[in-house]
Amino acid sequence: MKEVILVKYGEMALKGLNKGSFEDVLFKQIKYRLRPLGRFAYSAAQSTIYIEPEEDTIRMEEVISRLQKVFGIASICRACVCEKDFADIQAKAIDYLRETLEDADTFKVEAKRADKTFPMKSPEICRELGGALCEAFPELGVDVHEPEVTVMVDIRDTNAYVYAGKLKGAGGLPLGCSGKAMLLLSGGIDSPVAGYMMAKRGVKCSCIHFVSPPYTSDRARMKVEQLCEKMTDYCGDMKFYCVPFTEIQEELKRRCPEEYFTILMRRLMMIIAQEIAKKDECLALVTGESVGQVASQTMQAMVCTDAVCKVPVFRPCVDLDKTEIIEIARKIDTFDISIQPYEDCCTVFTPRHPKIRPQLELIEAAQEKGHFEDMIQRAVDGTEVKTFRVVR
Ligand code: ATP
Ligand code: MG
Repeated sequence: MKEVILVKYGEMALKGLNKGSFEDVLFKQIKYRLRPLGRFAYSAAQSTIYIEPEEDTIRMEEVISRLQKVFGIASICRACVCEKDFADIQAKAIDYLRETLEDADTFKVEAKRADKTFPMKSPEICRELGGALCEAFPELGVDVHEPEVTVMVDIRDTNAYVYAGKLKGAGGLPLGCSGKAMLLLSGGIDSPVAGYMMAKRGVKCSCIHFVSPPYTSDRARMKVEQLCEKMTDYCGDMKFYCVPFTEIQEELKRRCPEEYFTILMRRLMMIIAQEIAKKDECLALVTGESVGQVASQTMQAMVCTDAVCKVPVFRPCVDLDKTEIIEIARKIDTFDISIQPYEDCCTVFTPRHPKIRPQLELIEAAQEKGHFEDMIQRAVDGTEVKTFRVVR
């Protein structure tokens, strides 16, 4: 039986946004992700995108799985394609929905008639099909208020569609419709989750990662690249910038008080990240920080890091408990990569007694002690970039 997929994006998400461009971005994202799976025919009406596979070899499970990672989609339905003829609709409904209806106690039918020339009106379709289904499945009762299954009939220009039940979409807004930001990606659990959360709000991310060879290994960098690649499932294509940070960390160690080490390092990361963000047309920075999670993530510490930032810093994990972050990390499949035990440049030079509530003036004075200007430029110039793609 021929099937079509109905992708619904819900009118609510469109409030205050330009509907036309929202649809364009969503369409582009969907087509880009499904292209490797085969040829599809696309059409749209009433906040729904209709995706019809044009090749028999297309695996619908894979199509659904990819669609469930596209932001901007509220729900996904698999429907059966029927002739615009009631007898065909009835026969296919019984056949296509057999398993669902045999498992259910109650149902109702809803009909939508975009093609007003169809000879039966919606209430008549509901009545007739409802009767036929009751006959075909004698155990099944009708409940118009709280049915277990709602059978939908959708009469459109060229065909009619029958379906029941829907899968949850990824929600949020289509990638790219809210601009671009630079994610500071470490090898930890939190920053990939932060990137996912921004992507959900339609923000396209580039990633920046700081390495300190020989204190950090190639393997540690590969782990972060692996994370970046995994994140493309939800976040789409992403640039990955790898910044050589050794010289700066050694200078910090040489000249600045150890207790300020983490906070100064974070400020220097932010300075470099902004330089690269500007070149990449990113309007904001994103980190995986969460208030109070570790000593360097107090509000006072964030005040000190943000003091070097001229662009907004988004911290979408800020109010989440670690367990909540882990739950999301598992959902987006980054958790198992994150927990691989490789050293990060932050852990290599961790001070024994970090300043938990640093004062901005003292931090600024400490930073003056190092000669960072040229080093920052060298780090920016020495940055390597590669692109990870969702379609591999
Ligand atoms: P994560 O799980 O994201 O590593 P964390 O709890 O380990 O976070 P920190 O190590 O204090 O926290 O880092 C805080 C944030 O700083 C990270 O979420 C990330 O955004 C950024 N960060 C830390 N180390 C790096 C790095 N080597 N490269 C890029 N960004 C980093
Ligand atoms: Mg970390």
